[in-house]
Amino acid sequence: MKNKRILVITGNGKGKTTAAIGIIIRSLGHEKKVGFFKFFKSKLSGEDKILKKLGVRIFQFKKAQFFNPQKIPKNLIKECEALWQKVLKNKDQFDLIVLDEINLALSAQIITKKDFINFAQNTKANLICTGRAAPIWLKKIADTVSEIKDIKHDLGIGNQTQQGIEF
Ligand code: ATP
Ligand code: MG
Repeated sequence: MKNKRILVITGNGKGKTTAAIGIIIRSLGHEKKVGFFKFFKSKLSGEDKILKKLGVRIFQFKKAQFFNPQKIPKNLIKECEALWQKVLKNKDQFDLIVLDEINLALSAQIITKKDFINFAQNTKANLICTGRAAPIWLKKIADTVSEIKDIKHDLGIGNQTQQGIEF
């Protein structure tokens, strides 16, 4: 029986990253080592300050900006590739690896299916992949897939992001 699990948290509703953070906290309670890789994000969120204090290693983009997911800017493609190299370099340190927002990099084939599967086969860590539009092949190889449905979201009706709720 294999112990390692691949979890995918996808869909358009709010709660993907925060669900992954819940599992990080659960793992920390069992003394697990956690690597949190944040694709497409360069700023620290509220939770990151706490997670760092609890020993989670956080890796993210050096610089990020808003963009249209249909046309990912070149600098962000380079950032993706650089962060992916950090995943590969550091993977053996962790019991749990959270790849936040990687689903976009996978569906845009910035990180190829072949590279991801090769990585997944060569790590002992549990993996969590978050982000909208997870590719079908990822959902097939995952052990657990949750899709969060958007019923409504106050940002969708023009409200401003709120500290402590969105970041
Ligand atoms: P969270 O980090 O709160 O768990 P998420 O990871 O599911 O959210 P992302 O797709 O990463 O959401 O979105 C990043 C930002 O967009 C977050 O600040 C989130 O609150 C906001 N957001 C999430 N879902 C929606 C939505 N359906 N409409 C508008 N904004 C959204
Ligand atoms: Mg998120």
